[in-house]
Amino acid sequence: MIMEFEAVIGLEIHVELNCATKLFCDCPNNPGDEPNANTCPTCLWFPGAVPRLSEEALKKAALLCLGFGAELQPVSAFDQKVYYYPDLPKGYQLSQAHLPLSRGGGIEITNEEGVTRRLRIHHIHMEEDVAKLVHEMEGRTPISLVDFNRAGAPLVEIVTEPDFRTPFEAMEFLKALRTQVRYVGSSECSMENGTMRADANISIRPKGTTELNTKVEVKNMNSIKHVGDAIAYEIKRQTESVMAGEAVTLHTRLWDPDKKITSPMRAKFEGPCVPDPVVPVIELSSEWIDEMRSRLPEMPSERAERFVKQYGLTGDEAVYLSSDPATARYFEELTKQAIQPRTAMHWLITQLIPAVRERGQELDNSNVTPERFGALLKMLGRDEINANAAREVVIYMFDGNESPEEIVKSRGFVQVSDEAALESLIDQVLSEEPAAVQDVRSGLEKAKGFLVGQVMKLSKGKANPKVVKELLEKRL
Ligand SMILES: [Zn+2]
Repeated sequence: MIMEFEAVIGLEIHVELNCATKLFCDCPNNPGDEPNANTCPTCLWFPGAVPRLSEEALKKAALLCLGFGAELQPVSAFDQKVYYYPDLPKGYQLSQAHLPLSRGGGIEITNEEGVTRRLRIHHIHMEEDVAKLVHEMEGRTPISLVDFNRAGAPLVEIVTEPDFRTPFEAMEFLKALRTQVRYVGSSECSMENGTMRADANISIRPKGTTELNTKVEVKNMNSIKHVGDAIAYEIKRQTESVMAGEAVTLHTRLWDPDKKITSPMRAKFEGPCVPDPVVPVIELSSEWIDEMRSRLPEMPSERAERFVKQYGLTGDEAVYLSSDPATARYFEELTKQAIQPRTAMHWLITQLIPAVRERGQELDNSNVTPERFGALLKMLGRDEINANAAREVVIYMFDGNESPEEIVKSRGFVQVSDEAALESLIDQVLSEEPAAVQDVRSGLEKAKGFLVGQVMKLSKGKANPKVVKELLEKRL
């Protein structure tokens, strides 16, 4: 009998909050600035410096928690997580180990079998980031430099329950998490830029059993795809070693995206966690919590539901549009200009977003504003241009601020619907393509499309394909 295994996976996700200042001082929270430009005695961790908790960080963290349906705790507090490493010269990190900011919450995803699952969050806590080590060569001597710009940056850590069974579920969870955090506006959650980092705890057990076996932690994954790949690799590795009669030992591994393997990493010394005596305990009144809850925006799942009802979209379309707040906003701006929701969605997704990305722009600050793009779609709706021309006009719209009407006029994109002009083109095509004409008359539908195409070509793409088709049908 072959024993079947299932994986038990939990995630720990660090999210860097997009606050103006660091967590315990007023230094700018811009880790990418000139090294060590953003430092003060507090975040250089000089002895005797007094950390003061940033109110903005507390509010952004609280909103993030509420977005996941988590329970903000009336009392939370900071501990000193003791370890010694050059990126933490004060010898401890301020983190919430015993009394986290929130408990509970979760995210609903649809797994690969189409089953809706609610993946639970155990707790969310706040902590300060550590400094960044830069390893370089000075001549032939390897040196390590410390950049304190990131030291004390505001982080939250989201710790899940071990509810995940497959790499797919973990990836879907991270995508949904990223969307939700962007919605509440607490972080950009970019794994590429390091504002979101994920570790995965993975163990396996015989399918159908409930025990939790020894887990392995995988770190250093900087894309959602890497998380999926690393988990898949680790499940396979652990299964093979259990089948070979070897025990899985508790340790930490690193994902190597080039070799596509995990390998053991040297363990950091993990010291005790002791309550910090300096940073005051955080006490949240129910009024404060209610006030924060009232600031929560419409969340992605609510918005998707509304899009289905209000605009008659399918569930998949609505989820797609809602997955990014900027896309959802842009879509709604278009519908406000009386553009058909499906037309707006189609042109936004297939033409505008790819063009915006190609130019490295953001939908939010692109010069192709919803007003300009809407004006183009209206011309399309009035049959003043055809779809081919509209696609080209989009490209010209990025080059300046001319209105689509001006571009259409100055570059000759006006659609030809004039029957007399089109008839002469049709005459020419009918005389040049007798075989296709014969095919249409013997009932071959495809040949009709071919003839329309030839007329379009002859008109340099400017003919109104609807009118061409009608005229052709009369003639055949
Ligand atoms: Zn500082």
